[in-house]
Amino acid sequence: MKNKIVELMSMLVGTDTANPPGKEKALADQLTGLLEGCDCRRLSHGNDRESLVVTLPGANQELVLGFAGHLDTVPVGDTRRWKHNPLGEIIGDVMYGRGTADMCGGLAAMLLLIEEYEKHLPPVTLKFLFTADEEADGTGAKALLENGLLNDLDALIICEPSNLKLGICEKGTIWLKITVHGKSSHASMPGEGINALQLGMKFMEEMKERIERLSAPHPLLGGNTCEITGCKSGIKINILPGEAQFLADIRTLPAIEGGNSAVLNIIEEIRQSFENEYNISISVEEAGNREPIEQPEDSQFIRRIRKAIGKRACDVRGIYFYTDGSLIIPKLKIPFVIYGPGLPENCHKTDESISLWQIEACYDHYRRMIDSYQKEGG
Ligand SMILES: [Zn+2]
Repeated sequence: MKNKIVELMSMLVGTDTANPPGKEKALADQLTGLLEGCDCRRLSHGNDRESLVVTLPGANQELVLGFAGHLDTVPVGDTRRWKHNPLGEIIGDVMYGRGTADMCGGLAAMLLLIEEYEKHLPPVTLKFLFTADEEADGTGAKALLENGLLNDLDALIICEPSNLKLGICEKGTIWLKITVHGKSSHASMPGEGINALQLGMKFMEEMKERIERLSAPHPLLGGNTCEITGCKSGIKINILPGEAQFLADIRTLPAIEGGNSAVLNIIEEIRQSFENEYNISISVEEAGNREPIEQPEDSQFIRRIRKAIGKRACDVRGIYFYTDGSLIIPKLKIPFVIYGPGLPENCHKTDESISLWQIEACYDHYRRMIDSYQKEGG
């Protein structure tokens, strides 16, 4: 098993799918070569971007259990800062490289499952999603949804790194580019102008305050957050800035009634009141929008998984970053869990790494989840 895992990981980490530009086709080609004989559906998104769906019919074809993983990784960044080879280096039981934790480890476990259930009929139909562009716009997951390829899913296991803990909730994300238009003037005569930077900061403060108190903290995810992550304004020390641009990263909790739309409505309310009060114009542009998701801890789906994989699975955790689940779950409204090898804290870091034993353990846990899977309520 160890050799097989090393072989798969070397192929997955060694194939560069850094996004941008992604170019997941190179990896999709390798996978279809590996999975010859399987029902593989390739979906091209153009520009060498591609997603892949592998279906293994089960004894009970009425039930379809999905496994989701993404083919792309974030870029390596400055290679000089890496102590290890970003395309894969193994020392002892640890493999270093871009994408090892996020999420070649999960992909390797999925590939092991395919190999196993090609030989032995699975109890239910299994569907493996290998998506493109998860690290940016979710092109792959969106295309799979639009093409109806996910309509038959009854539940989904998202194989992102969770350190082998049950990820039962995930924060939502809203990215905004906010531009405030005021009027510049000599800074010694501020009455002649409208200070876009100062009013913009006030706007951002009010937005932060309103969003952060929108719902009580979540036991696994903490509170809603709203962070200013960029600001561009000002020409000269003695000129009142007539324009200011801000970037905001907002993370939302599943408890917000109305989801991300409710948050955007509040921002719109503040925008209108600022425009009226201060005689400025503010434009708010959405650069990203992912809904928060949550699977109740006491749902049958989670209880059954816990029973199947034993003690270790008693630990539940929240996932702070978004996954393809944020696109798929709100649409399909099916039970899900985020469960996979690797530490979430290692994702996107220089010298990203994974402990290889976790991949084998995860594969074993996935098998138990498959064997014990029944329809929710059944
Ligand atoms: Zn990921």
